Amino acid sequence: TLKSMFEQTVAKYADKEGLVDSRLGIRWTYAEWDQEVNRAAHALRASGVEKGDKVSAVLFNTAEIATVLFACMKIGAIFNPVNFRLMEKEIEYILRDADPKVVIFEKGTAPQIAPVAKTLTSIEYWSIDEENLPYALNYYERMEGVTTDRPSCQIDENDPYAIMYTSGTTGLPKGVIHSHRDMVDQALIMTACLRLSENDRGLTVAPIFHCAELHCAFFPRVMIGATNVLLHHFDAKEAIQTVREEQITSFFAAPTMWNMMLQEDFTKEDFLTLRQGLYGGAPMAPALTIQLHDALGVQLLQAYGMTEMGPAITALTEKEQVTKAGSAGRALLNHEVRVVRTNEHGPAEPEEVCKPHELGEIIVRGPSMMKGYYNRPDATEEALYKGWYHTGDIGSFDEDGYLWVSDRVKDMIISGGENIYSREVEDALFDHPGVLDAAVVGEPDDMWGEKVVAYIVKKESGLTDKELDEFCVTGNKLARYKRPRRYEFVDELPRNASGKLQKFKLRERRTTLLE
Ligand code: AMP
Ligand code: MG
Repeated sequence: TLKSMFEQTVAKYADKEGLVDSRLGIRWTYAEWDQEVNRAAHALRASGVEKGDKVSAVLFNTAEIATVLFACMKIGAIFNPVNFRLMEKEIEYILRDADPKVVIFEKGTAPQIAPVAKTLTSIEYWSIDEENLPYALNYYERMEGVTTDRPSCQIDENDPYAIMYTSGTTGLPKGVIHSHRDMVDQALIMTACLRLSENDRGLTVAPIFHCAELHCAFFPRVMIGATNVLLHHFDAKEAIQTVREEQITSFFAAPTMWNMMLQEDFTKEDFLTLRQGLYGGAPMAPALTIQLHDALGVQLLQAYGMTEMGPAITALTEKEQVTKAGSAGRALLNHEVRVVRTNEHGPAEPEEVCKPHELGEIIVRGPSMMKGYYNRPDATEEALYKGWYHTGDIGSFDEDGYLWVSDRVKDMIISGGENIYSREVEDALFDHPGVLDAAVVGEPDDMWGEKVVAYIVKKESGLTDKELDEFCVTGNKLARYKRPRRYEFVDELPRNASGKLQKFKLRERRTTLLE
């Protein structure tokens, strides 16, 4: 179980620096961290949390979330991290669905929590900040005078450890259930993939509520006894500064975060201790991968996956960054990945395997696959059809067995009967040095069914649509039918906390403009 994983590390590395949260001036050894975890576990029990009950956390990257999640494990409670960027209605939906006993939140999320607390009154709310709020108890007051003894609880490896709501770039969020065993497997695989050791010092900049950070970076580091430094939330300047000051050796960031760091003033000296940078959770354009590789002078790794799979299923290792830039790499240990023909009438059949370079839906199975969606048996059955998780991603294998992710099935554009994969167009636009960020979507078109529209964030002013169009033509980058028919220049693109483009917002924006 994750509980025994944590306790083994505590036993082996008791006096080693385990957790650093400079916001609170915290530098806990693993033994100190463990004591805090025990206290939180008893405090949760005192509020009536028993094995199988849920505890939600609407927290940024703080010592409290790093404590509460292990506290839940120690008493067999189910940890439910909630995206702090969600709106009140979305949080209410999740809390109604997850039905937790306790919700722990911080100041920054109070505007969303306060109205929810009025509606969902059977839940106990704990605030980690000092102010006294009429609807909440105080986390630190709950901890006062509580024993640091290890609570006893019998937990089976197949017991659920967490319910994580998927980012819901389409439809209502669904709660993904993961067991202890699943996440121990994922941590083992990632520890090996990243070649982590107890000498590593990791930095958490991506949100802990998302599994990319928690399962691919944070748990593997805890498993091996490495040090974990937390940044409350991502800030490019602060991230670079922390790498230097805390002598960080390894960290994960979403592609868009790496892109923001690239725009800062830094020298290779700043990244001297960094031996590896992990990216994933959303596509990174090859041009950006190569820029990053050259600018930082560190080894890069990419992981591709999704919440339902724990998340990582494939990785592109250090050596392949330049030769296979843009690919998602190959299957991770104990994972099977297939590309199969899509089926208009239902889930794709696992046996209908595509040939190399033939595009189809990516399906996968592996040891960290979810147990199912909470309260959603139908959605579970469809997603796990014939034992394979159907990702909803379109991709292909090349002749060397490398996976290339082209698009979400739902984002694919069909123009004049031809399929256009937005990733290909976005990657081509990223090759232009004046492009900072790009998103390509389909828009309804009387003549062609859909037409390609590109939303661009400029790096330098002066960049025009004409110039971009010429760039696509002269560089022989894109066939005529794939070229954007219209460019729109924007200050920023809608991305969620894990760096994924929220294309539905671009489509909505257009609909609102037309109304
Ligand atoms: P989520 O579970 O919400 O994190 O979303 C998972 C989705 O993010 C996948 O189905 C992909 O569409 C996308 N994704 C994750 N990692 C990558 C990657 N390395 N390259 C391309 N797309 C990715
Ligand atoms: Mg498993």
